[in-house]
Amino acid sequence: VRVGVDIGGTKTHAVAIDGTGRPVHQVLAGTGSGAAAVLAAAVDTVTRLAEDCGMPTWQFESIGVGIPGTVDVASGRVANAVNLKIDELELGGELSLRLGSPVHVENDVNAAAFGAFRLLSGTLGGDSMAYLNLGTGLAAGLVLHGELWRGARGGAGEIGHIPVDPNGPRCSCGQRGCLETVASGSAIAREWPTGHPRPVQELFQAAAAGKHRAIEVKRRLVRNVASAARLLVLTMDVETVVFGGGISSLGEPLLEAVREVFADWAADSPFLASLDLPGRVAVLPDEFPAAAVGAALVGGTVSEVL
Ligand SMILES: [Zn+2]
Repeated sequence: VRVGVDIGGTKTHAVAIDGTGRPVHQVLAGTGSGAAAVLAAAVDTVTRLAEDCGMPTWQFESIGVGIPGTVDVASGRVANAVNLKIDELELGGELSLRLGSPVHVENDVNAAAFGAFRLLSGTLGGDSMAYLNLGTGLAAGLVLHGELWRGARGGAGEIGHIPVDPNGPRCSCGQRGCLETVASGSAIAREWPTGHPRPVQELFQAAAAGKHRAIEVKRRLVRNVASAARLLVLTMDVETVVFGGGISSLGEPLLEAVREVFADWAADSPFLASLDLPGRVAVLPDEFPAAAVGAALVGGTVSEVL
C-alpha cells in the first residue's frame, strides 16, 4: 500500500492506493494555516488511513506529499507556500520523524500532473502530457517520456507568470498582466464578482442565459485558457493538455468552448490547424484525487507499481 497526501489551502486529502494505482481508502481533514497545523493535518490523515488499512504508518510501502509552493524534492523542504502561511518548512523531515517512514515531498501541481498522467495515459495515448491547473492561480505540470519534468531549478511549467497583457492588472508575483491574472479563478473573482459558491459555473450559466457581461467575461476567460493550452503545445509539443483545478469542474462545456476558440484560430492559420489542438485537450474527471494519487506514485519506483 502506498499513501499520497494532497495538502491544499483548505483541505488535506490522503489516499491509500493498491498495486494497480487505484485509491482503496481516502481520508479528508481541514488544513488550517501555519506549519504546526499543516503538519498536524498530514499526520492525522495518514494515521487515520493506517487505521483504515489495518497497519501502522511505518509499514506503508511509501508516503508522498503534494503541497503548493517551492519544493526541494531532494531534501523535502517547502518554501513560499503563501496560502498555507508557510515561509519555510522541512516538511519531509518533520513528517518522516512523526510517521516513522521516509516521506517524499512534491509540488502539488507536479503531483497532480503525474496522477493525471497515470490515470489518463492509457486512454489518451502518448508518453507526454501537460497538466494545466486552473485554480485560484494558473500553473502547469509536465510529464515527458512518462516522467515528471520539474526543470533545471524546479520551475518548469510556471506559465502563469508569463505576462500576456502589458496593461493588465498587477500580479501577485510583481509583474503586470500575467497569464494567471486573466485565465484563473482570480480572474473570474475580479471580473465576475459573486457570492455564488461555484463562480465559474454561475458565469457559464449567466452567459448561456444571454447576459451580455457574462458572455464577454466568459469569452475572454476561455480565450485565455485556450492560449495557455496553445502555449504548452507550442513549447513542449506534449501529446495532450489536461485541464484540472476548480475551473475544470465545468467539464465538457469548458472543452467545447476552448475547442471553438481553436477552430477560430485554425480558420486563419493553416499552421495552427496542422497542430490539431482540438484533439489534444482533455479534462480531468471531476473528483479524481490526482494530486494525492500522484504524490503516492511519484516518490516510489513507479515501474514496480504499474
Ligand atoms: Zn505573475
